[in-house]
Amino acid sequence: MKIQNDFKILIKTQIYNKMVNCVNKASPNEACGLVFGEIKEVEENGDFQYHYLPKKFNCIESSRKSTVAFLMNNIEELNALFYEAFSKYNLRLISIFHSHPGGNYPSGVDVDNMKYLDNCGNKAFKNQIWTIMDATNNEINGFIYFNNELVQIDVRLEN
Ligand SMILES: [Zn+2]
Repeated sequence: MKIQNDFKILIKTQIYNKMVNCVNKASPNEACGLVFGEIKEVEENGDFQYHYLPKKFNCIESSRKSTVAFLMNNIEELNALFYEAFSKYNLRLISIFHSHPGGNYPSGVDVDNMKYLDNCGNKAFKNQIWTIMDATNNEINGFIYFNNELVQIDVRLEN
């Protein structure tokens, strides 16, 4: 898969640990959650990069208990989380997180959902990084559907 170097997500240990807990709690089913934070435009050698900076992670109980799918469709809960993140912390949604029992590349359904959310017209869902954690080793990959193309991006873990 093509790597898009203009996007990066920098995940601090505190957020990463919450993601791991979320995955362990849902195991053996897929876990899911929302990552709120900031997106910073950074210039590096005349090149612009977008750094996604997670500040808050909400583990969400999947409405579909499955080892091959997840579903976040509790609209009231989602609205409350969006409202809290924005009004209390001034944060926006930057990543949609979920786990796979093995592997961390998007499934066909994931790709369909990425395309759908990017094109649904709701700006809150545009240019989301999809973070996927492999439940066997807790390694995370990141992907973005950008310019009508699925690309992999750099995930950095930091203290
Ligand atoms: Zn998936």
